[in-house]
Amino acid sequence: MTKAIYPGSFDPVTLGHLDIIKRSSKVVDELVIGVLVNKNKTPTFTIEERLDMIREVIKGLPNVTVRYFEGMTVDFARKNDANIIIRGLRAVTDFESEMQIAQTNHSIEPEVETMFFTTSLEYAFLSSTIVKEVAFYGGDVSRFVPKNVEEMLKKRYFPNSMQAI
Ligand code: ADP
Repeated sequence: MTKAIYPGSFDPVTLGHLDIIKRSSKVVDELVIGVLVNKNKTPTFTIEERLDMIREVIKGLPNVTVRYFEGMTVDFARKNDANIIIRGLRAVTDFESEMQIAQTNHSIEPEVETMFFTTSLEYAFLSSTIVKEVAFYGGDVSRFVPKNVEEMLKKRYFPNSMQAI
């Protein structure tokens, strides 16, 4: 049985992430999305909010689950009996840091392999940061994130207009 983890900040989950989740869940038996609790960064959404948003979008995917983790990705893989780490590659700019992370992880835990999925072209430019920037200025993010995430972004940046609705 092949079990994989897909680690990341997912602050918040985008259609780019969802594309990687759907595609990778087809090539493994089980996929566990790992939402990283990074104490050095102040996230826009709490861990619970990020987990809830992901739970909603993976409802139709029976072999996908989500949980949070702290610490090293390879430890999260070990705890879940997973020997594959899924990562997405958008552009060459991702390549250098992703290669470094993958090589570090492999030297710490040789049993764990990193599997890369190249982004679907329509999501190549998409990142959680870009989505938040557009949402902050009131732009339309419906093509970038699932509906529930769009609503969460509106609530976060325009709480008063939500109350008026
Ligand atoms: P991190 O903080 O670990 O980079 P992210 O939530 O930003 O976490 O991303 C998690 C993973 O998803 C990373 O491997 C990242 O490259 C990938 N990813 C993010 N956005 C996209 C996208 N639009 N297309 C493909 N992969 C993506």
